[in-house]
Amino acid sequence: MLKTHACGELRKEHAGTTISLAGWVHRRRDHGGLIFIDLRDREGIVQVVFNPEVSPASHQTAGELRSEYVVRVEGAVAARPAGTENRALPTGEIEVIAHDAQILNRSMTPPFYISEEVEVDESLRLKYRYLDLRRERMKQNLLLRHRVVKFMRDFLDARDFVEVETPVLIKSTPEGARDYVVPSRIYPGKFYALPQSPQQLKQLLMVAGLEKYYQVARCFRDEDTRADRQPEFTQLDIEMSFIEEEDIISLLEELFTSMIETLKPEMRMARPFPRLTYAEAMERYGTDKPDLRFGMEIGDLSDIAATTGFAVFTRAISAGGRVKGICVPGCGTYTRSQLDELNRRAQALGAGGITTISLGVASSLEELTAELAKSPAAKYLSLDQVKAMAALLQAKPGDLLVIAAGKPDMVNKVLGELRREMGERLGLAPPDLLAFAFITDFPMFEWSETAGRWQAMHHPFTSPREADLPLLDSDPGKVLARSYDFVCNGFELSSGSIRIHTSELQRRMFRVMGYTDSQIDERFGHLLEAFDFGAPPHGGIAPGIDRLVMLLAGEENIREVIAFPKNQSAADLTFNAPSEITEEQLAELHISFKNGNPPGNTLAL
Ligand code: ASP
Repeated sequence: MLKTHACGELRKEHAGTTISLAGWVHRRRDHGGLIFIDLRDREGIVQVVFNPEVSPASHQTAGELRSEYVVRVEGAVAARPAGTENRALPTGEIEVIAHDAQILNRSMTPPFYISEEVEVDESLRLKYRYLDLRRERMKQNLLLRHRVVKFMRDFLDARDFVEVETPVLIKSTPEGARDYVVPSRIYPGKFYALPQSPQQLKQLLMVAGLEKYYQVARCFRDEDTRADRQPEFTQLDIEMSFIEEEDIISLLEELFTSMIETLKPEMRMARPFPRLTYAEAMERYGTDKPDLRFGMEIGDLSDIAATTGFAVFTRAISAGGRVKGICVPGCGTYTRSQLDELNRRAQALGAGGITTISLGVASSLEELTAELAKSPAAKYLSLDQVKAMAALLQAKPGDLLVIAAGKPDMVNKVLGELRREMGERLGLAPPDLLAFAFITDFPMFEWSETAGRWQAMHHPFTSPREADLPLLDSDPGKVLARSYDFVCNGFELSSGSIRIHTSELQRRMFRVMGYTDSQIDERFGHLLEAFDFGAPPHGGIAPGIDRLVMLLAGEENIREVIAFPKNQSAADLTFNAPSEITEEQLAELHISFKNGNPPGNTLAL
């Protein structure tokens, strides 16, 4: 090794020892006689002093040093003179007196500061990602990610799970997204698909008798990129045989609690993790990934609303709809324009509009008078009705009731989204709280208007509940799945399910989803055949590692916890991918473009 110690590990105990260090110049200060270098390596920063009286040659070398030069230093660790200690630095009690220094490499001036946490344009950060990763925050994110993955591996290894790698060049395994495909050179006109997840492969490993499998697996989905989504992302893919829902749920709860207690002891968790059915989550939070760090639950006001003379409410109810509301704490003083803005937001989310009731300040709800309850619908609502609605939504004087009326799905969606946005605006979610929960009993199918057929809500390998099997053909929309989602702070961290393990039921499911028998055989014949060779009952889950690390790191974007992410337009700015390939490569792959140019290539026009 070119060094005996890491810069960041040096402490007072090392004083008096002779050491060698190697790293990057973080900062340089030239005080005329003395030159001070903050030398940085992965473990941290230490101050190196170049004194011309100690070593004229190394003082001269130090004169040449600039930010990010790579340098090796030999010297002696010394306690800093009293009064010059730097408490902000773990190595701040000592410094290294250089006896010898060598420049190992020079550096151009970096396009942004590495030594300071300043805001830098993301494209520049991604283009020079290797420099961005030198910055403290990014380095900490990568180290945290390493510890998270290591914890997962150790945890599962200790429970007899076997890590198995599965291929990346396969055939489409659907998770409801578009595939990335790779043209085959050997088979003209044929393509591999990159796995949207190793779903079928892990199921085949269960048929193979592995019983407990995991993999830190890369998944590829050609979807629009978002803050919490990347074209390629990593999951902790898990599958087990001879299990039921409870086994996976408790495994995950144990994994996550022990991991966070170990790696992030400063973060709080509510335990045991609550469980909500999908129907309950939609009813109370308007979403299947509720942020449970704060209340503001959606309440059903239909019974009270039905007794009012307010046509918006009564018409919605007689058309089979619902009247529901949330209580936004402390917003009873919202101005006309703030209420208008809220209304416009609700309209953008699909509501005709919302009805608000602003509760004025009174010592208690009972003391509320008609003058203190302001609402555009005031003349249709009695004071008792207002109080009853306020009580149902657990409101206090000074709060704002936001009410939506109409079709149940729309009402839930609008209020769920307003709840989320208002919670964020009012800072209701404590940042150190991780509110994990399991969502169970999802519908098996959802109707796709665009495809004109039923689609699996999780994926087509999910088992329906045994009791619902008779509904498969008569009323697929009512069939519930043996699936579960694991959510945290408004994000879906993972989905999983107990799988189908007989070819007969799997074929039946595909038929419900509108596949013909020949399509089933062509696309999934391999799996159906495998099921006929003694497939055990099995199930699994796949927590997303990027989103989890994002939450643990307190970041708002998964790009911050991925070493080399794609940008928002799915491009890799470090390598400039995707990019053209050569004529020879195209020819080998049997690909040619109409008019000789790739579609959309503006140069061709
Ligand atoms: N393969 C699923 C997914 O990627 C997870 C699972 O069902 O285990 O969402």
